[in-house]
Amino acid sequence: MDKFGILKSFFGYDSFRDGQQELIDSILCGRDTVGIMPTGAGKSVCFQVPALLFPGVAIVVSPLISLMKDQVSALLQNSIPAAYINSAMSSNELEYTMREALGGKYKIIYVAPERLMSRRFLEMCSMLKVSLVCVDEAHCISQWGQDFRPSYLLVKDFIATFEARPVVCAFTATATERVRRDIVKLLGMKDPFVSVLGFDRPNLYFEVAKPVNKFTALKRYLDLFSGKSGIIYCATRKKADELYTVLSSEDYSVTVYHAGLDKDIRKRNQELFINDEKQLVVATNAFGMGIDKSNVSFVIHYNMPGDVESYYQEAGRAGRDGSEAFCILLYSGEDIAIQRYFIDHSQENEELSALDSLSLRRVKLKKLGAMIDYCESGCCLRHYMLSYFGEASQDRCNNCSRCVGMLSGKDVTVAAQKVLSCVYRVREREPAAVISKLMKGERDEYIVASGYDRLSTFGLLDDMNIKDIKLFVDFLVSDDCLSEDEKGNLHLTRRSKAILFRSMKLFQRYKKERPQDGEKAEVFDGLLYKKLYKLRKTIAGKESIPPFTVFTDATLRIIARKKPTTTEEFAAIPGVSSMKERKYSKAFLELINGHFQHIEKNSNK
Ligand code: ADP
Repeated sequence: MDKFGILKSFFGYDSFRDGQQELIDSILCGRDTVGIMPTGAGKSVCFQVPALLFPGVAIVVSPLISLMKDQVSALLQNSIPAAYINSAMSSNELEYTMREALGGKYKIIYVAPERLMSRRFLEMCSMLKVSLVCVDEAHCISQWGQDFRPSYLLVKDFIATFEARPVVCAFTATATERVRRDIVKLLGMKDPFVSVLGFDRPNLYFEVAKPVNKFTALKRYLDLFSGKSGIIYCATRKKADELYTVLSSEDYSVTVYHAGLDKDIRKRNQELFINDEKQLVVATNAFGMGIDKSNVSFVIHYNMPGDVESYYQEAGRAGRDGSEAFCILLYSGEDIAIQRYFIDHSQENEELSALDSLSLRRVKLKKLGAMIDYCESGCCLRHYMLSYFGEASQDRCNNCSRCVGMLSGKDVTVAAQKVLSCVYRVREREPAAVISKLMKGERDEYIVASGYDRLSTFGLLDDMNIKDIKLFVDFLVSDDCLSEDEKGNLHLTRRSKAILFRSMKLFQRYKKERPQDGEKAEVFDGLLYKKLYKLRKTIAGKESIPPFTVFTDATLRIIARKKPTTTEEFAAIPGVSSMKERKYSKAFLELINGHFQHIEKNSNK
C-alpha cells in the first residue's frame, strides 16, 4: 500500500491537505523533517502515515499523558496498532506494553520525554527496529517557547543511542524564528527539511470586545453560541471558580478546570467536557494542551492572556475540524495589571542567572505589549497576529470584529415561546409539519378533527410564511430547544423550559455587515445532523471513547449533506476509514434510511 492507500484505508481521507504530502515525502525519503503548522492543520497524519509505511516502530515523544491517550485511542479506532508509555501506568501495565512491543505488536509507540532515557525503555528500544522518532509539540524544547520542558532536551541523547540512526521529525503549531532554530539545534537534526505552513486558520472568526460589564457580555455570547461546545479561559483560578459557580447556578451546562483542583476532579471534569456531557468548561491556561477535542465551536477569553503566542494557541482550540468557529477576547485595563503582576511575581527558573532573569523579564514585557496592541489597535485582528508570526497577509480578512463589526444575534425569544407553547398545548404529540401548520393557522381535516384550531396558540405566527416557520422549527430542533422522538413528535427540552419559564433569551446568530465573499453557505440537513450527533454520542458512550474519535463534526456534517444510503456511499465520505466503515456503517445507514422514511411519512400528513 502507498501513502494514498494508507490515508484512505486507515484515516478515511481521499486527499492530503496543504503541506501534508511534502512533509510525508520528506520523511519517507529518510530526511530529518520539521513541520510547523497551525493547530487543526493535521500534523498527526504527517508522521502517522510514514510510521505505517516504514518497517519496525515509530517512537513519538509527546508532552502530556492526556494527549497521548487521545491519540492512541484515535489510532486504535482506525485499527492502527499503537500504545503509550508514561509515568501514570502501573508497573504491570508497563511490563505488558513492553512485552507486546517486543513481540512486534505496535507500529507507533507514544512516550513521555522523561521516560526516554530510563534503562528499561532504552533496553526495549535497542531490541526493536526504530525507524522514526517523532517529536510532537516540539516548541517545548526551547526556552523561548511558551511551555519549556527541560526533559525534551533528552531527545537528542536518546537518538544518539541508536546504532542505525532513525529518521527524526518534529512538529509544532507555534514557533517564532528563534524557537525554530532551537528545535533544529537541540534535537541534533541533520540538514532538515523545514516546512512552515501558513498560520492562518480561515475558519476562525476573531473578535475583541471591551465591555463595561464582562459578565453580562459573556452571557450574551453564551446565548449566541447556545447548544455549542466552548471553552472560557480566565487568568486566575479564583476567577475560574467564580464564573463556574455563577454559571452553574444559572443552569448552564458547565464544568471547571484549573491546576488548583484535586487531580481526580480535574480528570473527571476534563472528561465531562471531552465527552460532550458538559457543553462549557471554565478554565485557566492549565487546560488545553492535551485537549484534542475537534468540535469546540468557540473560545472566549474572559481575561487577556500574557502574549500573542498563548492567545493564538488557546483560541486555536476552537474549530479544529475545520468548521466555522469563534474566538472572542473580553478585554479590560485590569487585565494588563493582572499580567504585569504575573511577570513581577513569576517563579523564575533557579538555574537562570540574574542577568538571564532580567532579560527574560524584558522579553515577557515586550510580549505583553504586543498582546495589548492586539486588543487596542484598530487593524484587522488576523492580519495583526499573522504579522506577529512573521507571515505576510492581506490587511483585511473580512472575518474578524475589526473588518466586519461585532457578532450579533437576532432575538427570536418571543417567536420561540410561541412555538414551544404550541408544542406544550398539543401535549408533545405532534411532529414539526403539524406544528408548523398550526402556527401558520392552517385548517386541514386533521387539525380541525383534533380541535387544534381552538387552541390559544393557533395562528400565532400567521405573519410568517409557512416555509420560514418550518425553517424556524428546524432551527429550534437543531439548537436544542426542541427534541424529536422516534416517531418524529416534538418534545420540550431543558432549554425550551428555560425559554418558557425562566425567561432565557434565544438568539439566531449572524455577523453584522459581513460582505458576501461569494462562498456558498454549507447546506445540510440539520435534523439529520442532530440524529447523527446523538448516535455518535451513544456509540462513544458504549465504547467509552470520546465522541469525536467516532467521527468528527465535520464528517457528521458531510454525512448530513450527502446522506449516504449504501455502504459504498458511506465509505466514500471523508473521515470514514475502512475500519470505521466496517464498525459503524450499519448503525449510521439504518439511521439515515429511517430518517428518509420519517420525512416521507411527515410530508404525507
Ligand atoms: P493538529 O495539526 O492540530 O495536530 P490533527 O492532527 O489533530 O491536527 O488533525 C485535525 C483534524 O483534521 C482531525 O480531525 C484529522 O482527522 C483531520 N485531518 C487530518 N488530515 C486530513 C486530511 N488529509 N483530510 C481531511 N481531514 C484531515
